[in-house]
Amino acid sequence: MQNYDFDLFVIGAGSGGVRAARVAAGHGARVAIAEEYRLGGTCVIRGCVPKKLLMYASQFGPGFADSAGFGWSRMDPSHSWTSLIAAKNAEITRLEGIYRRLLEAAGVEIFTGRAQFSGPNEITINGASVSANTILIATGATPAMPAVPGAQLMITSNDAFDLPAAPDRIAIVGGGYIACEFAGIFNGLGRKVVQLHRGSQILRGFDDELRNHLGDELSKSGIDLRLGVDVVAVERQRGALSVHLSTGEAIEVDAVMAATGRMCNTWRLGLETVDVALDINGAIKVDEFSQTSCPGVYAVGDVTNRLNLTPVAIHEGHAFADTIFGGKPRSIDHANVPFAVFSQPQAASVGLSEAQARARYADVAIYGSTLRPMRAALSQRNEKALVKLVVDESTDRVVGAHIVGADAAEIIQGIAVAIKAKATKADFDTTLGVHPTLAEEFVTLRSRRT
Ligand code: NDP
Repeated sequence: MQNYDFDLFVIGAGSGGVRAARVAAGHGARVAIAEEYRLGGTCVIRGCVPKKLLMYASQFGPGFADSAGFGWSRMDPSHSWTSLIAAKNAEITRLEGIYRRLLEAAGVEIFTGRAQFSGPNEITINGASVSANTILIATGATPAMPAVPGAQLMITSNDAFDLPAAPDRIAIVGGGYIACEFAGIFNGLGRKVVQLHRGSQILRGFDDELRNHLGDELSKSGIDLRLGVDVVAVERQRGALSVHLSTGEAIEVDAVMAATGRMCNTWRLGLETVDVALDINGAIKVDEFSQTSCPGVYAVGDVTNRLNLTPVAIHEGHAFADTIFGGKPRSIDHANVPFAVFSQPQAASVGLSEAQARARYADVAIYGSTLRPMRAALSQRNEKALVKLVVDESTDRVVGAHIVGADAAEIIQGIAVAIKAKATKADFDTTLGVHPTLAEEFVTLRSRRT
């Protein structure tokens, strides 16, 4: 075997890359990792973690309003965006430090700079050349901007985390995860939010009943959710921004955020020097072991555009390292991965939507209920939760679970274990509930709806 500088060179120190590097080093490999920005990647630096911190901050707004129903008075708090962002930044810096220490403790050499392929088994970084037997691409994705005049005036989620001030009025373009989550954040912080989505309902691909229910709840929470509308142009006008819509209307706001999907980070990586094949969307094509079309080159996480979630990238990175360096080949299982949107209220699912189940199984039974959360009894907030199970009748197996409501993300995790373990509706029925909770609805659904 040739004598390379490293056994493994990882490009990108996000969730997938860091896990792969640490596990491979644990298996005895000589590992290096390169990162051009900050250790931790999208999830830690400008994704899941800061998003959730901002979400917590925004929940106090409706919380203060609801507190009157519980006997509180004189609630007139003000909010400092600057303090929030400073606290969020301190936490992210702390987490980044942990990532660095974990990599160092595992014996992984960290390079700061942009790594590019300069040939098979060869990487150029900061003007120097480094060789490795195996190379893992874990470079993630970056926000995509819509192709409309004035798009350069829009911000993305990357910018939203570090705005000098929270805009009083914001238009958020898109109906996906990021659009729904940031609409809730700015709305909770008392800002005027209009969410503009081109489709007939938010969250395409999710269960239709969940989508409709959440859409109604977002509107009730104060977000001006407009469906079936395209942004045709954005222009600056007298210190504000004017958003021109396909309806002919123009809306005046202080900021426009594009949350219109993400592009894989595959450019300026020198991929042409190693013949790594991309799909039509620019994602790296891989097999079930994360192997690209080029021998010795692998890819994990969002850059492969399989299921763009942090735990999935971590799973892919871990399985890759076990397969190549641990002598334990493991393919990736993307079935029954739970997912949650941290909107307000939250929405979460695992398994099949009703439509997917009907396409796959001859007889599908639906159990569900909508209910007023207990907290709303005293707060008088006009809010409804949704709980739904999708069952394959021939086996009685629960093949899908969906929920909209407070702590939906926390609740779906336990349900995911049951579904992964192939629980039947009878298993759900014989499980006792935790009372009084929203979660117990999952084990008390008795009447079949369809
Ligand atoms: P999504 O793919 O979830 O949503 C993109 C949205 O933008 C869709 O509503 C889409 O509409 C719309 N859109 C796309 N192109 C245009 C366009 N040119 N003009 C107008 N609208 C457009 O992307 P996000 O950026 O929200 O998130 C990216 C991914 O990151 C998610 O899919 C998810 O995998 C991950 N993520 C996960 C989170 C979590 O786990 N909580 C949080 C945030 C992100 P249409 O449906 O019509 O195509």
